[in-house]
Amino acid sequence: MGFMQGLRGVVVGVANEHSIATSIAESLKREGAECLFTHLPGEKSERRTRKALESIGYSTPWLVPMDAASDEQIDATFAKIGAEFSSIDFLVHCIAFADKDWLKPERFTGTPRSVFTTACDISAYTYIAMANRAAPLMTRGGSMVSLTYYGSEKAVPGYNVMGVAKAALEASTRYLAMELGAKNIRVNAVSAGPVRTMSAMAVGGFSEILDWVVKKSPLHRNISGAEVGNASAFLLSPLSSGITGQVLFVDSGFAIMGL
Ligand code: NAD
Repeated sequence: MGFMQGLRGVVVGVANEHSIATSIAESLKREGAECLFTHLPGEKSERRTRKALESIGYSTPWLVPMDAASDEQIDATFAKIGAEFSSIDFLVHCIAFADKDWLKPERFTGTPRSVFTTACDISAYTYIAMANRAAPLMTRGGSMVSLTYYGSEKAVPGYNVMGVAKAALEASTRYLAMELGAKNIRVNAVSAGPVRTMSAMAVGGFSEILDWVVKKSPLHRNISGAEVGNASAFLLSPLSSGITGQVLFVDSGFAIMGL
């Protein structure tokens, strides 16, 4: 029996087979969890998400469209979950967005207001928005996880405005943990090392970031999506019952190095 047996939750962010959310869903399934999914609105996005879910064994997933930029769509998703299920136990927030024209070395100082606002809205605010709708459904307590990156605390060339958004996401993790702890809801983040996904490829100089991890991290290799999936499943499970408000690095140890 897996350590997520009997637990049900929402996973937001499965875009394709390479998505970190797909790896998380795979770990959760293996450990016995029941996962509910969303996809970006549109037929093409739905098709890709279904294909990714099928590749990890979800042939008839619970799946609804949701653009996290829309409060109405977030409301509709969680209202539908509340109407169809008695409760949920976990939430996975695995989404981010920034205009890739501003994810290039030497392209931070000129960041336009609209690029900054959208990056912080989609990549950070939406965690608060989803937590606010998910918490009332966590009647037995619960656990939430989002995905962040080292560029929140150190200046990483090319990560730019996304680093600022991730700093907001990590601070939001701590404030959510502070408020939701009274309801026995834990809120954490996983700081993943670089993984080749659609979003990651938008970051200018991503290959150099991967090479740098091999050269400088204690493990001298990059991490896999599966390793992020397993650590996330741990944080979503009762095995991590004493942990909240934390950022857990899954990065081959890269972040401890003084370089
Ligand atoms: P990905 O492109 O597979 O996933 C990004 C997801 O964000 C997609 O599912 C996309 O549909 C979703 N998204 C974007 N805008 C949205 C919106 N308005 N509404 C709903 N969904 C929206 O890439 P990924 O690398 O798997 O990214 C997942 C998370 O992991 C992100 O938060 C990312 O910053 C984080 N992360 C990635 C890496 C990496 O190297 N890949 C490292 C650390 C953290």
